[in-house]
Amino acid sequence: MEFNVFEYFKGYKRTTRGPMTPEEQGTSFFLAGHMGEQISERVDTCAAKARLSRRNFLGTASGFAAAMLAVNEITGMKFFEVTEAEAYDVAAAQDIKVARKPGSDFIVDAHTHICWRKDGYIPGVNTSERGMWFVQLLDDLGKAMGLPNGTKDMTVENFGKLILEGSDTSVAVFNPFGFREDYGGKDMIPIEEQAEVKQRWPDRTVMLAGGLTPNQGLRETLDRLQMFVEKYKISGLKLYTFDSTPKRGWWFDDQKQAYPIWEKARKLGIKNIGCHKGIPFGQFMARYAHPEDLDAACDDFLDLNFIAYHSAWPYQNELAALKGFKPQRKNLYCEVGSTFAATVTNRPLECAHVLGTLLRDLGPDYVMWGTDSALWVNPQWQIEAFRKFQIPDQLVEGHGYPKLTDEIKAKVFGQNAARIWNLKTVASAVPADKPRVVAV
Ligand SMILES: [Zn+2]
Repeated sequence: MEFNVFEYFKGYKRTTRGPMTPEEQGTSFFLAGHMGEQISERVDTCAAKARLSRRNFLGTASGFAAAMLAVNEITGMKFFEVTEAEAYDVAAAQDIKVARKPGSDFIVDAHTHICWRKDGYIPGVNTSERGMWFVQLLDDLGKAMGLPNGTKDMTVENFGKLILEGSDTSVAVFNPFGFREDYGGKDMIPIEEQAEVKQRWPDRTVMLAGGLTPNQGLRETLDRLQMFVEKYKISGLKLYTFDSTPKRGWWFDDQKQAYPIWEKARKLGIKNIGCHKGIPFGQFMARYAHPEDLDAACDDFLDLNFIAYHSAWPYQNELAALKGFKPQRKNLYCEVGSTFAATVTNRPLECAHVLGTLLRDLGPDYVMWGTDSALWVNPQWQIEAFRKFQIPDQLVEGHGYPKLTDEIKAKVFGQNAARIWNLKTVASAVPADKPRVVAV
C-alpha cells in the first residue's frame, strides 16, 4: 500500500507503546510504506545477526541503517550512504553516530511549530469542523510518533524537550498558524503564546509571525504586522495564501492587496517572508499552493527574500523554473519541511528528484533544512536520514543534479539560514551519544 501521511494515521489508536528512539521513529516510516514488507524481511535478518529481538533491534541505530540498506538493495540504487556492518553491528553503528562530534553540524530547522494553545480546540465552541480536521490530523500524527495526548502534547514545554534538547537542531525557526475564521476568531496559535518560545530560548529560536491575510481587511492586516514588529520583535513572516475567509485565498503578487504588506514589511525592517506552498491539504484550495505568485513579488521587491515552504512539493518543478530560467534571481529560497520526511522513507526516488531539482535550479545557496516538527514530533530521525541520503549517480549523470556532498549538506543544514537570519554558526552542544527524548 502506498504511504499517505494524510490518510495513514487517521483515527490512530495506539495499542502498544510508541517508538522509543529517533531511529525507531524513522524506521517505522520505512516499514509503513509500500516497500515495508520487503524492508521488514531484511530488518529481521539483520536483527538475527545482531542477536537481538526485533523489538529491541528497531530501537538501535543499526535498525535504522538496516532499513536504509534494504531500500538500496530493493531499488538497486544507492540512496543511502550506509554499510552492511552498520546494519547488524550495533556498536559499529553507534560509533559512526558518536564519531560525529557535537559542533560538526550547524543545523537550523527553518520550519517548527507548537500545535496547541491554552484555550484548546473545542468543536462547535471555538473550532469549526474545518478547523478540527487539521487539529485531528496533527493529533493522529503525534500519537503515532509517541506523544500520548497528540496535539495536547505539542506545547511550548515539549517544543524545547523534543526539538532543542532532543535533537541536533542548533536553532529552530518558529512558525505560526493563523486561520482565525476556523478557531473562534483567534489565531490557531496566538502570537502571545508563540512569544513564550522565544522568551524561553532566545538564542536558539527565531520567531516568525503569521496569521496575516488581506482578505480579513488590508488595514487590519497592516496594523497587525506593525504590532507584531513593535510589540513582539518578530524576525520575519510565514504566511498562507490559501485562507479560511469566503474568498479562500490571495496572491503574493496582488498589487492592491499584497504589495502594501511588502512595502510595510520593508519599512519595518522585515526582510524574510515565507509562504506555505505545495502540500494542498485538507480544507484548503490547491490553486493557492502553487508558487507562481512569487515570480513578480521577487522581481518587484529585490531587497526582500521570499521563502517557499515545503519547497512547493509536489509543484517543486514550477518553483524551480522560477529560477532555472531566471538565474539572475537572488531572493528566492525554499525549505524542505514535511516534503523530505514524507518522501525519504518510502519514495526515495522522488525525494532525490525533488532535492536534485531544487539544488540544480534554485542552487545550493538557496535550499534550507526544515522538518515541520513538532508535527513529526522529534526531528532527529530526519536529521540522521539527511546525513545519510545521497542523490544516486544515475540521477546525477542523467539529470545534471549536483551530488549531495558534505559541503552542500552543510549549506542546506544551516549556512544558508544563518546568512539570511544573521545567526552565529555555533552548533548544538548536545553530545551525539546523549539519548534523545522522543516521547513525553
Ligand atoms: Zn508547517
